[in-house]
Amino acid sequence: MIELHKAGYSYGQDAILRDVSLQLAPGSFHFLTGPSGAGKSTLLKLCYGDLLANTGTVKLLGQDARDLSRDALAKVRQRIGVVHQDCQFLDHLSITQNVALPLAVSGRDVEAEAENLAQLLAWVGLSPRAHALPPELSGGERQRAALARAIIMGPDVILADEPTGNVDWEMSQRLLSLLVELNKMGKTVLIATHDLGLIRAAKAQVSARVLRLAGGSVQLAGADL
Ligand code: ADP
Ligand code: ADP
Repeated sequence: MIELHKAGYSYGQDAILRDVSLQLAPGSFHFLTGPSGAGKSTLLKLCYGDLLANTGTVKLLGQDARDLSRDALAKVRQRIGVVHQDCQFLDHLSITQNVALPLAVSGRDVEAEAENLAQLLAWVGLSPRAHALPPELSGGERQRAALARAIIMGPDVILADEPTGNVDWEMSQRLLSLLVELNKMGKTVLIATHDLGLIRAAKAQVSARVLRLAGGSVQLAGADL
């Protein structure tokens, strides 16, 4: 679904990613770990075409990211749901409206999707908060709303950047089970996290590969994790 071959990226002079090769096969479950500042968010951005690699190749759903027109990239991104670290909500819109934004942006009839929207909010446990504004939510509620927004378009791939960064253990388990459930429905999942406890917990539920990002490249972590 997503394939990087010797991809490199630098912000100005600083090479953050040097030689990253990875393949996210359909239906696979991956973790991406590495110290803060290692480049996990940057790597995720390459995986959804938000940044273009300076060197090497990135293929998104079979197409070279460099060859995608703006429209083609927009189509690809409907199939890749992203849970951003900082959630990026519009604070004056309700949770329901925020979750529905990708529908509105892509020109779909939001009214016609009301039922789907309600079901999705129920699935992430946010029905009682459907009309709340983002600043009124707890960290765990925000993350679940961000997950709902990431999957509203029915993507094949879900990329989550530190989805459990600001939540307690119980809530991170809950978020993990939602992501595991999505994977069992056939979706490809990549979670960037430095939370090794979360990875251990996941390994009891799903067959997950752990990639470690360090020194600008990615290695498969051993089974000792
Ligand atoms: P991680 O997600 O692993 O913490 P990031 O990908 O966010 O790492 O950042 C990797 C490095 O790149 C950090 O040193 C960060 O400060 C730097 N960086 C990230 N975004 C930018 C940017 N837009 N401009 C310049 N430097 C950046
Ligand atoms: P993380 O490292 O966990 O991804 P950050 O707080 O470093 O989170 O980054 C948040 C945002 O700020 C990202 O969009 C990143 O690209 C940007 N950013 C990070 N470091 C820099 C930097 N040195 N210069 C400019 N933008 C940066």
